[in-house]
Formats: sequence, C-alpha cells, structure tokens
Amino acid sequence: MIEHAKKAQLHASMLTMFSNCPLAFQRRYGARFGLWHEEEIRPPGVAAAIGSSVDASVNYNMNIKKDGIKKKAEMIAPLDEVLQVARDEAAGMWSGGLLLSDEEAEALKTTEGDLIDWAVMMSEYHYYNVADLIQPVDVQKNWVVTLEKFPVDLSGTIDIVEATALRDTKTTKGNVPYDFAHSMQAVVYNLAFKLETGKLPTEFIFDVLVRKDLKRGREVNYKPATMVPQEKHFPPLLNRIERLCDFFENVRKGKATFPAVTPSAQSKWICTKAYCGYWHTCDCKLDW
Ligand code: SF4
Repeated sequence: MIEHAKKAQLHASMLTMFSNCPLAFQRRYGARFGLWHEEEIRPPGVAAAIGSSVDASVNYNMNIKKDGIKKKAEMIAPLDEVLQVARDEAAGMWSGGLLLSDEEAEALKTTEGDLIDWAVMMSEYHYYNVADLIQPVDVQKNWVVTLEKFPVDLSGTIDIVEATALRDTKTTKGNVPYDFAHSMQAVVYNLAFKLETGKLPTEFIFDVLVRKDLKRGREVNYKPATMVPQEKHFPPLLNRIERLCDFFENVRKGKATFPAVTPSAQSKWICTKAYCGYWHTCDCKLDW
C-alpha cells in the first residue's frame, strides 16, 4: 500500500550511495537510522547542479503539458520561460555553493558560466527533441511504500508518470557511463507503481541527455535507455533491504561497524575530492 509512513524512510538514492561508499552513506544519512551523530550535508558538484537545473526546467514544462492533457487542450510552456527556470535554478545552486575541483575553483567565472550555459543548452535540447515524446499524467510524484515487515519504509519522487510508463530525466557527460537500463532506482520506482496500481509499468525510460565538449563546439544528444520492469526484480531488492536493516541493527548494538571502502577501477571517480564532499575529512580517502 502507498500511504504516509512514520518509520525512517529509505530512498533509492540512499541505496545507491551505500553501494558507492558505505562511509559516505553513514555521514550523510546515518543519523536517520541511529548510526551517526549528525546529518553531514555536503553541496553537490557542478555536474549534479547541471542535472538539477535541467530537471527543474523539464518539470516546469511537463507540468504545463500535464495540465493541458487533463483539460484536453494543447498547452505548451513558452521556451523563454522554460529556459529561465533552468537559468534561475543553476544561478541559485551556484550562489548556494558547490563542490568544485581544483581546476573549477581556479577558474570561477568560467565554471559558473559553463554551469549556466550547459543547463540552458540541455533544457533547450529537451524542449525541442524530447518533450514531444512524453505524455505526463503526473510530474514529481512523491510516494511512500509501507514495508510491513521492515523497520524502514521506501519513499521517493518519480520524475514523470505516464499512463502506463515511468520516466526519469538524466544528464551526463561524454559517453553514458552508467548502465541506466539495469538500475536499482528504476526497480524501486517500479515496485512503488505496482503497489499503487496493481500493475507493473510497461517500461521505465531514462531520458538521458548527453553533453559533449568537441573541438567544433558544444553538443547535446539524446540517448534514451529503457528497462522492462519484471516481477523477478523485486525479491532481490527486498532481500537487500532486509540485509541492510540487519546490518544497521548490528551497528546500533555495537556488533558491527561501518566497512571501509575500496572503490573499484570503474568507480574510482567516486572517491575524489571533486565528487565526494567527505573527502577532506575522511581517513579512508584515496588520493588518486
Ligand atoms: S572520501 Fe572516499 S572513502 Fe571517504 S567517504 Fe568519500 S568516497 Fe567514501
């Protein structure tokens, strides 16, 4: 059942963070589960700020389109409004402070300009090339799944709900480095959809926008990735959550401690000062 819950809530992003680095999870979210003394919130990096800014503009556009679909009238957000949302979001995140690499910090004006330019360029690309493919019935839908037998519940926000499918907007740089079609985030959201509607979504589509710096200039491309939801994905997800809860319980009882991490070759970017906000004060950091 989907309803408001009172237990601590696990989000898909927390599961991802735990997989990437348990120590970072402990410092960011551990306090919610009695595993750490405070929530240590760190600012996002520039890539994440570009993603959030594009998300904000896409959501603005899709909300207007959704209202039009409900009224059976074609309603389109003006391009300049959509781009202004992206610009404002990027500027706001910049003024709030971002996690910067040494190179980004040495060229502050360029970094700020790049952030805003990419946010606007990717939003415009989405407006002209992707928005027409989407038929939203809900945008930024919050949900909570009560897990009866667990000490935690699952919660999250689905970017875009269509009549039978789910969509999530992603931005990335260069070649798509992440296997979106095999995503635990999608499995979590598919479960929420199934529990609310009684049916699996027909598909989970990641609308991936890829940005590239080329010698001839900047370029944005659309590389969608689709997952076909399946019932067989759910038991492993719930088994993982059960093991995570057992681990949390053992930590609270002093029978286990948080493991240190050894980021793999593919994920070594996770343990860098430009990506991890805990790098400067972490005794397990890797200084690549
Ligand atoms: S610096 Fe590395 S080990 Fe430490 S929290 Fe960050 S990713 Fe984990």
